[in-house]
Amino acid sequence: MNTPHLTIALSKGRILTETLPLLAAADIHPAEDIFSSRKLIFDTNHDNIKLLVIRATDVPTYVEYGGADMGVAGKDVLMEHGGQGLYEPLDLEISRCKLMVAGMKGAQPVEGRLRVASKFVNITRDYYARLGMQVDIIKLYGAMELAPIMGLADRIVDIVDTGNTLRANGLEPLEHIAHISSRLVVGQPSMKMKFEMIQPILEKMQAAVVAKREV
Ligand code: AMP
Repeated sequence: MNTPHLTIALSKGRILTETLPLLAAADIHPAEDIFSSRKLIFDTNHDNIKLLVIRATDVPTYVEYGGADMGVAGKDVLMEHGGQGLYEPLDLEISRCKLMVAGMKGAQPVEGRLRVASKFVNITRDYYARLGMQVDIIKLYGAMELAPIMGLADRIVDIVDTGNTLRANGLEPLEHIAHISSRLVVGQPSMKMKFEMIQPILEKMQAAVVAKREV
């Protein structure tokens, strides 16, 4: 039988830097320097393993539709995508941050319907639905902090790490929605068809996660 091919979709940006050592622990190394190249597909030290380097928000979509067998993406992106068609077997415990509701510092409670700006419209809708609140959601693609300053929204739902971005713009965190870290996801058909190839990679990456935790 031929050895199956495996495609792994990686989120570019800060997650990538922390993902590569975990892949290295599973003896998967890009054949060239990912950071100095503009390529989207990379060969590795294995003839049958390729890496895609794409926008984080596209990783679950590639894996869901079989454009990649597995991938690495933040839990925020996975929650927003919905996770259909994906298994999430491993928390890589990297790129940790929090998903929070924030507003202008010292803002008064809002009368009437709250206007909430976010790029995470599904997460925002689900969060307020669980609270039994009807809110108007305004989709933005970046710089969410600007929305309350300019009167576009009363609240934002955004990623918070140190809180510096919020503070620098006169905002404060108000409610905690979820702890976020990056996860390894596997397409459901790939997990079945390529289990023998995927399983040892999962085990080695998991061992690296545990070893890092114990340092
Ligand atoms: P901070 O000022 O440290 O709270 O960082 C906040 C900004 O950095 C957010 O607006 C996010 O866009 C980005 N950010 C921080 N941590 C992460 C992460 N783990 N994943 C994605 N974006 C992040």
